[in-house]
Amino acid sequence: MDTTNWLADTAQIPVQELPGFAPDGSNTCVSMLRLDTIHPFISGNKWFKLKYNIETALAEGYTSLITFGGAYSNHLIAAAAAAQHYRLYITGMVRGEEARRQLNPVLQQCRDMGMRLEFVPRDVYRSILSDGYRNAVLDPYHDHLLIPEGGANEAGRKGAGEIAGHILPRYTHICVSVGSGTTLAGLRQTLSPSVHIAGFAPLKGGSYMKTVIAGALERNKDVNWSLTDDYHFGGFGKTNEQLQGFMQSFHSRYGFMLDRVYTAKMMWGVKDLLECSKWPEGADILCIHTGGLTGN
Ligand SMILES: *Cc1c(COP(=O)(O)O)cnc(C)c1O
Repeated sequence: MDTTNWLADTAQIPVQELPGFAPDGSNTCVSMLRLDTIHPFISGNKWFKLKYNIETALAEGYTSLITFGGAYSNHLIAAAAAAQHYRLYITGMVRGEEARRQLNPVLQQCRDMGMRLEFVPRDVYRSILSDGYRNAVLDPYHDHLLIPEGGANEAGRKGAGEIAGHILPRYTHICVSVGSGTTLAGLRQTLSPSVHIAGFAPLKGGSYMKTVIAGALERNKDVNWSLTDDYHFGGFGKTNEQLQGFMQSFHSRYGFMLDRVYTAKMMWGVKDLLECSKWPEGADILCIHTGGLTGN
C-alpha cells in the first residue's frame, strides 16, 4: 500500500537531552525519544504497533476490526483513531462491565471516534485471552480482523521494531516501559545486540513478563536485555504523592509531561538506577517516551 499517506508523521521524531537528570559528577548522558509527539491520540508506540495491522486489514479487504483493552487503554483509543482515519469499522471489547455505567473520558473519546464498545465481564475477558482469542464469544466477529490486546502480534512487533530506525547508534542503553512487552520484543529483534535494552514493568509481580517477552522473540532471545518490576508504586495504574511530585518537577525542568502509568515510573526507575550507580560509567542512555498522555 501507499505508505506515503500513513496517518502519523514519523519522519522527524525529536530526541531531547535531559541535562541534569543523572546525578552530579556522573558521566552518563540521558536523552528521550519523544514518540509522544507523533499524534494526539495514536501516540507513542501505539502507532508503530498498529501500523502493520492496519496494512493487513486494507490489503486483505477487511472492513471491520476488533480489538481489546482495559477501560483506560491507550491502545483502544489509538485503535479507534486509526480505524476512523482509514474508514474501518471497529469494535473495542472492554474488560469489565462496570465501565459501561458511566463512560470514562478515554472510552467516551473512543465512542466519539466511532468505536463500537462491547463490555465483557472480567472472567470472560480473561478466558478470551487465555484461549488465544479462539473463544466462542468472538464467533460473531469472524469476519473482523482481530488485533490482540496491546497490538501484541507479529505485525505489532514488526512495527515496534521500526522504532529502532529512529535510534542513533551512539546509545549504549535503551529504556522502555513494558505492558504487553510488544515494544521491547520488537526493539530487541531489530536493534544491534550490543545495545542493552532495559524494560520497566509498572505492575506488581511484573517480572513474569520476562517469559512472555522471551516467548515472543524469534531472535536475540537471550541477548542483552533485562526487565525490572521494582518501580510499580503499588501496582498498575497506582500512583502516590512522590510520583506526582516527580512528574511535576520533570515537567517544569524539561517542558514536557510523562504519563503517570508508564513513563513516569520508568523515569523514576532510571533515576534510581543512576543514583545507585547501576549503569556503567560513560553510559549513553536513551529513554523512549511511549506516549500515553491521553490517560493523564
Ligand atoms: C501501551 C503503552 C506501553 C506498553 O507497551 P507494550 O508494547 O504493550 O509493552 C508503554 N507506555 C505507554 C505510554 C503505553 O501507552
